[in-house]
Amino acid sequence: MNETATAPTAPLRARAEIDLAALRANVRTLRAHAPGAAVMAVVKSDAYGHGAVPCARAAVAAGAGWLGTATPEEALALREAGLPGRIMCWLWTPGGPWREAIEADLDVSVSGMWALREVMAAARRAGRPARVQLKADTGLGRNGCQPGEDWTELVEAALGAEADGLLRVTGLWSHFACADEPGHPSIAAQLTRFREMLADAEVRGARPEVRHIANSPATLTLPESHFDLVRTGIAVYGISPSPEIGSPADFGLRPVMTLSASVALVKQVPGGHGVSYGHHYVTPGETTLGLVPVGYADGVPRHASGAGPVLVDGKWRTVAGRIAMDQFVVDLGGDRPATGTRAVLFGPGDGGEPTAEDWAQAAGTIAYEIVTRIGTRVPRVYVNEEQAG
Ligand SMILES: *Cc1c(COP(=O)(O)O)cnc(C)c1O
Repeated sequence: MNETATAPTAPLRARAEIDLAALRANVRTLRAHAPGAAVMAVVKSDAYGHGAVPCARAAVAAGAGWLGTATPEEALALREAGLPGRIMCWLWTPGGPWREAIEADLDVSVSGMWALREVMAAARRAGRPARVQLKADTGLGRNGCQPGEDWTELVEAALGAEADGLLRVTGLWSHFACADEPGHPSIAAQLTRFREMLADAEVRGARPEVRHIANSPATLTLPESHFDLVRTGIAVYGISPSPEIGSPADFGLRPVMTLSASVALVKQVPGGHGVSYGHHYVTPGETTLGLVPVGYADGVPRHASGAGPVLVDGKWRTVAGRIAMDQFVVDLGGDRPATGTRAVLFGPGDGGEPTAEDWAQAAGTIAYEIVTRIGTRVPRVYVNEEQAG
């Protein structure tokens, strides 16, 4: 079975409706939060599960000047789909498609000497200069070049290659560890370190077009981190980076994805009836059960068994017992909605439905993971594709 996206009214088992008007409005809101900076829409991991190409197009239409991905393959796919403008990718491994990236006019990130050597060799073969952004580890302790001798060596070598015409150092950048915890002492320490590493590179002759460190939480809460460009991912999709810093509405954002499924069966059962694998739920009395035909293969987290919320016929119901690979059950308390009624797992929340954040809390994770893991078996159905507002 190969489900494909069709009109939003088609009777699909399950669908993830993607509201591109909400996405465009979110991008405009983010531009207003960072008026002095360009906005990069981060569309890695298939736009956090929302679909990379349609979301990238909508983000560009709403004024995102840059697109960002983790892997070069993701960035090349955007270019092949015809997306114009600046596209940056940052997660490289040895032997990566450097030459293809140069020929596709991508901005590539370099965190160490091995990568600089590979990009220089590829630029020679391609016969044209690469756009290189040097990444500093200002304290995240993940990718990026360490300050001190390592940074000096990398900057000097990159500027030498720039003088030789092999590349252009288009950016200097870094990434926060704890931007979703405003006031965390690492934030100020990383900003100080970033300024020092920028100054060191600029003193040596670097003339980057863009300097950037802010992700969504920093864009929303820390104006001094905006520099020339902000890299926003989760906020583009209308989700707050952390419920502690505010709700989407607090920041003028609106969730883009609504996940729903068509109730496949409603039936009456007696009290004392075990439900789903392991019988972790037993009906407390005579009741009705509804079968919701999505499961962990679709990205509905099994950790939310017995806890995930679902809106069915105007009422919140809770997953009864275990979430299985393809389906789960809700106790409808005697109600008998028609089969085919749409059960809404999450959406913007203003129609009374739960949100991805509610599912994150039910599963002990973050909303980023909830939307990103929605599987390929769930068709994405795009609404408001036309640029009306
Ligand atoms: C994913 C990612 C982002 C976007 O982070 P959000 O918290 O989703 O805004 C920005 N920069 C880098 C390097 C990333 O990997």
